[in-house]
Amino acid sequence: MATIDPETIHDVEGIGVHNIHRHDVVIVGAGLAGLRAAVEASEEYDVAVISKVFPTRSHSGGAQGGIAASLSNEEEDHLEWHMFDTVKGSDYLGDQDAIEILVKEAPVVVREFEHFGAPFSRTPEGRIAQRKFGGHTKDFGRGGPVLRACYAADRTGHVLLHTLYEVCIRNGVRFYPEFYALSLIIRDNICRGIVGWDVINGGIHVFHAKAVMFGTGGYGRVYKITSNALSGTGDGLSLVLRAGLPLEDMEFVQFHPTGLYQQGILVSEAARGEGGYIINDTGERFMERYAPEKMELAPRDLVSRSEQTEINEGRGIGGKDYVHLDLRHLGSEKIMKQLPQIHELAWKFLHVDCIKEPIPIQPTAHYSMGGIPVDKDCQVFADGKKEMVQGFYAAGECACVSVHGANRLGTNSLLEASLFGRRAGKAIRRFLGVQREFPDLPPDAASSAIEEVERLLSSSGTERVSSIRETLQEKMSLECGIFREADQLQRLKKELRTLEERFRNIKIDDRSKRFNVDLLEALELGHMLDFTEIIVEGALNRKESRGAHYRTDFPKRNDGDWLKHTLAWKKDGEIIFDYKPVVITRFQPKERTY
Ligand SMILES: Cc1cc2nc3c(=O)[nH]c(=O)nc-3n(C[C@H](O)[C@H](O)[C@H](O)COP(=O)(O)OP(=O)(O)OC[C@H]3O[C@@H](n4cnc5c(N)ncnc54)[C@H](O)[C@@H]3O)c2cc1C
Repeated sequence: MATIDPETIHDVEGIGVHNIHRHDVVIVGAGLAGLRAAVEASEEYDVAVISKVFPTRSHSGGAQGGIAASLSNEEEDHLEWHMFDTVKGSDYLGDQDAIEILVKEAPVVVREFEHFGAPFSRTPEGRIAQRKFGGHTKDFGRGGPVLRACYAADRTGHVLLHTLYEVCIRNGVRFYPEFYALSLIIRDNICRGIVGWDVINGGIHVFHAKAVMFGTGGYGRVYKITSNALSGTGDGLSLVLRAGLPLEDMEFVQFHPTGLYQQGILVSEAARGEGGYIINDTGERFMERYAPEKMELAPRDLVSRSEQTEINEGRGIGGKDYVHLDLRHLGSEKIMKQLPQIHELAWKFLHVDCIKEPIPIQPTAHYSMGGIPVDKDCQVFADGKKEMVQGFYAAGECACVSVHGANRLGTNSLLEASLFGRRAGKAIRRFLGVQREFPDLPPDAASSAIEEVERLLSSSGTERVSSIRETLQEKMSLECGIFREADQLQRLKKELRTLEERFRNIKIDDRSKRFNVDLLEALELGHMLDFTEIIVEGALNRKESRGAHYRTDFPKRNDGDWLKHTLAWKKDGEIIFDYKPVVITRFQPKERTY
């Protein structure tokens, strides 16, 4: 149960909300990004973490495969190799100054996790064990896959998240579990806090802060087949849009090649890192034709596209829309030691024993490369480029710094979330060293949030949230998936407008305030409808194929016109685009083959 400490409650005249909490720092999101920032900031300041789910149920806890760092624990590796792989993996859209920070600080972040007590898997000598992952190579891509992903069996996210949670408790971080962030309070480019909803008891709460950070995660739930938790509805992105700020590179959505058939639940790339094969109906390891050198360990965009091509051309198993992931040759000992959770998931959800049978798999919506534009210290840009919002930070999957560009390499995301979460925490400490006062709360701080909740609770239309959501998910999967085309995207754009109209005419049954799931689902759907339009229009605008964004009508990468980041705003219901250059320091764009 959430406990409210009366000491943090301040009544501020004129706001119309009784529950006003004051904390130096308010962090929305209790995944790796939010908690790592909380650990850092709580060394010096009073920090609150708000999360719509219980903190350790954040999606980071579902991460399986590993966290990248060129530690050279098992074989030779270098920062430069990791940097090259990440730049190439991003299809040259990643900002190389940020990627340099990512690879340089990776060993520090992983060793810190070890000092916090994270129980990593070990080499026989007792060092942190490392495994192979797609796109991570030796010698600037000239050698084979490199052992770079640090892991704890196939439960890496789980152990890292729990470790950070314990440190937060030790540091006195105040948690508001099952509080739902409804709106950002930003006036004159100064962030002054957020407004939230107490899920358990009902009621609006204002969180007044000197600094706010978002670690609100991804939005896989806008697709029908996804690896993401139910909470992956991208709320943070729409709160930012509604505050008049832009989003960056939203057209780049990662599809992971190995989702359990019809469930979308992830089978970690660690399964291929440990030596698993992907085969089609004829028993062929078809990656041989698409990525002759790296095979199953090519990056995800390439493997997912190859898989979908096999399925589209009728070589799915029995002509159906799935292929097989075959682990049988790894043997039961290796499977049960290194991939126990995968064994369990395949058994529980498909009744497949992967020691004896291949696992039916299909591509699953997995990760959002784009997000809230931030600088290298995670401060949010007001204009996407130069001007900053004072006291507002974002890190992890909801942010775009941009280290993943057009396609993220596996294990670089747990790394990004922890590493940039840590940087955000440090930046917040520096900022609070100067900013000693709380900014003023405007009298209308909570008005848009109150209006939204009241409108939904009193809605009396004819449409159902679940039906609109299902249509959205189906249409997005069908028309803005792995392969995209102008006609489909145009159609989808119109369909989204219809869904928005339907959303204005909804009715929710539950009018109570306590644990009102109907209300939460309506809020989440409103958020999803807000930013999916930007994914679709961004995909329509970008007339090239790069990384995870593949246009069948423009199948080539076009650096001349499109080596640039997309920025998009929503103004009066219309989407406005702008662009900004990619930071290239070391590696000039080249053709990307594996
Ligand atoms: C199944 C799976 C396996 C993965 N495996 C790996 C892997 O092995 N290696 C790797 O590098 N990456 C992996 N990834 C990706 C990686 O796990 C995520 O990108 C990363 O953990 C995101 O962390 P985060 O802190 O940004 O957000 P999350 O962990 O997603 O946390 C988001 C937080 O925001 C909160 N929140 C959101 N909206 C609101 C709101 N409105 N109000 C209040 N709270 C809100 C949620 O409650 C939650 O606490 C995997 C992803 C999935 C889905």
